[in-house]
Amino acid sequence: MQRIIIALDGYSSCGKSTTAKKVAAKLGYAFIDTGAMYRAVSLYCHEHHVTLTNPKEVDKALDNIHITFHFNEHRGASDVYLNGLNVEDEIRKMYISQMVSEVSAVTTIRRAMVAQQQKMGKGKGIVMDGRDIGTKVFPNAEIKVFMTADPVIRAGRRQIELLEKGEMIGIDEILENLKKRDYIDSHREEGPLTQAIDATYMDTSYMTLDEQAEFVLMLHDSFVSRNVK
Ligand code: C5P
Repeated sequence: MQRIIIALDGYSSCGKSTTAKKVAAKLGYAFIDTGAMYRAVSLYCHEHHVTLTNPKEVDKALDNIHITFHFNEHRGASDVYLNGLNVEDEIRKMYISQMVSEVSAVTTIRRAMVAQQQKMGKGKGIVMDGRDIGTKVFPNAEIKVFMTADPVIRAGRRQIELLEKGEMIGIDEILENLKKRDYIDSHREEGPLTQAIDATYMDTSYMTLDEQAEFVLMLHDSFVSRNVK
């Protein structure tokens, strides 16, 4: 069967990564959570006290950052590694969510991540989720979906995720963080979060994760059947 690129973009905590993971598993595709890459860069910048407004410091940091993904059978998805260390759990913590949008707005950081993501998608057969996948990373992706959901519902989902990982954070703090990230992500100069003109809009407020994955799989099947040679 024809192997394609599926780009899932949208606001924070809409279920993009879980949907991408399910779709990739069903199709036997690779799944890349690009948010994890920006989170790993944020962790490095935090640990090494990188001044984001100092281009020399940022360049030096980028030279020293090596991000890789390794499949974790237990999770059924890839964990992200920063310089050989599994940072999957650390990067999901609230202090990283609080700094990641500032980090990912730095142009040189974005360019470095986008170049790496484009390499990962060269052979196609990939589901990638993020903010600029359908607009910047793979503007020619065969399927593009733009995901959104009611902010209060998103905050509730995020709160459960954090609780499952042992972090108890109030809903107001989470909601504020989501809104702030959405704002910064949508207003930066390089690769802002915006719906690609050829993306299908999906509001996940009242959809289950299975329904979200089924919707994307339906788009995939209909694309493939229209393109059989
Ligand atoms: O997807 P997730 O919420 O983990 O992403 C964390 C942050 O990484 C986003 O709020 C955004 O600032 C940044 N990001 C980005 N471009 C992407 C993916 C994520 O700027 N392609």
